Amino acid sequence: MSWIARIFGKRNDTVRRAHTQVFLTNTLSNAKELFISQKPGVATMYSCGPTVYGRAHIGNLRAYVFADTLARVLTAAGYRVHRVINITDVGHMVGDGDEGEDKMQVGARREKKSPEEIADQYTKLFIEDIDELGINTRDINFPRATEYIREQIALAKTLEEKGFAYRTPDGLYFDTSRFPAYGKLGNRQGVELKEGARVPLVKDKRHPNDFALWRMAKPDDLQQWDSPWGRGNPGWHIECSAMSRSLLGQEIDIHTGGEDHISTHHNNEIAQSEAANGRTFVHYWLHNAFLTVFGEKVAKSLKNDVSLPDVSAKGFHPLALRYFFLQAHYRTPLSFSWDALAGASEALNRLWRIARELAEESRGKNAPSEARVRFLAAMRDDLATPQALGILWDTLRSEEYTPEEKWGLLEDAEAHFGLSLIHPPASRTVKEAEVPGEIQNLLIRREAARAAKDFAEADRIRGDIEHSGYRVDDGPKGPVLTRTTL
Ligand code: AMP
Ligand code: ZN
Repeated sequence: MSWIARIFGKRNDTVRRAHTQVFLTNTLSNAKELFISQKPGVATMYSCGPTVYGRAHIGNLRAYVFADTLARVLTAAGYRVHRVINITDVGHMVGDGDEGEDKMQVGARREKKSPEEIADQYTKLFIEDIDELGINTRDINFPRATEYIREQIALAKTLEEKGFAYRTPDGLYFDTSRFPAYGKLGNRQGVELKEGARVPLVKDKRHPNDFALWRMAKPDDLQQWDSPWGRGNPGWHIECSAMSRSLLGQEIDIHTGGEDHISTHHNNEIAQSEAANGRTFVHYWLHNAFLTVFGEKVAKSLKNDVSLPDVSAKGFHPLALRYFFLQAHYRTPLSFSWDALAGASEALNRLWRIARELAEESRGKNAPSEARVRFLAAMRDDLATPQALGILWDTLRSEEYTPEEKWGLLEDAEAHFGLSLIHPPASRTVKEAEVPGEIQNLLIRREAARAAKDFAEADRIRGDIEHSGYRVDDGPKGPVLTRTTL
């Protein structure tokens, strides 16, 4: 490296280190706090990952779009973000408690495959799904729990040696009575998990809040390893404590997950990590609110576990789902419906059209503006995505900004939203007069099939329309046709 490059390299580092202020709501304090990373300019971030026994549903996807938006905000504010999303391929019991069957085993039996095959299949699909949602998966580490068995055993052993665990004929349990801060996340201190449907009584467990660090293998367990306590498999919570320690260090800046994880999973992670390491585990805990589908909790049994292929099969671009998520603040519950997604899709298509026009008008040149300052302030204020979207739309519609100022804002919006705004996908909404007769006929027949509630026929016709190079989205004002091949 020449001395000039060295000096400029240094200067770049200095610029990168001069990161801007970001405020985040910390579940630990239940307050908005200024984010201060342990190392200047670097943020470590761990997000609880999927249990890969089935396809992720759009509720799960909301959690990862939120974590990605957070990483984008920090990156744009000058941080280098080190990210981990773990892949749970062992230990997560149906119902999240200590009894029942391992979800991987349920998946393996359902599909007549080994747990490893199931894990491979759904890990690949998960990464493909979030990639399609504009999440840059190359910058994320995806460790699998089964690849960190040694580290999980070592952590459990430390807890046993330090007197935080006890053995039962079933396995090794964390003794929550030895950790007075147990339940500090989400004000759960002193709250006892109720034994009942969700928390069945495990024989020999001293307290309902105690949880398994290691379980002795049952005869039909497909996944088992040797350990100091005998053959068995790890408890669910220990993987996150072990993998975050191995990959990001004992103390990490940010941990994310859905709000369902606050009460048990994350309090258990804190108990394990802080008891073993003797120091703070996570400085900022962030949780996304839940997504409901058609007004109900997402559940396979309710047949509302919509996944990304369902979204695409209806002719929506995956990024329409991302736009839909961004319309709500991450801490606000969000209700999904196909109509709401159609509205988001229409708005995104409009945004892409404006972006194409602006690219020509500005010739890709950007200029600063006060709108950009307001946009950044909104995003750095606990990821205020609805406000930031409002600023974007107001500015693009306004005649007070030059094309270069608008283009500059669009670049900022892209860095924070990941909606392909700078390079919109090659497609365009077609005006009615431009639709060829044969496609018009198909559209009319599809509407008739839909009116007669013959959805199989409507879907078949949609397939014909797609094969002809068009996509049809059902907007609130009727079908919207987009050309997918130019
Ligand atoms: P799981 O595979 O169940 O561990 O979930 C993976 C991630 O998705 C976790 O962070 C959950 O908290 C989150 N999650 C699960 N269901 C929903 C939902 N309906 N809405 C938002 N996040 C969810
Ligand atoms: Zn976790």
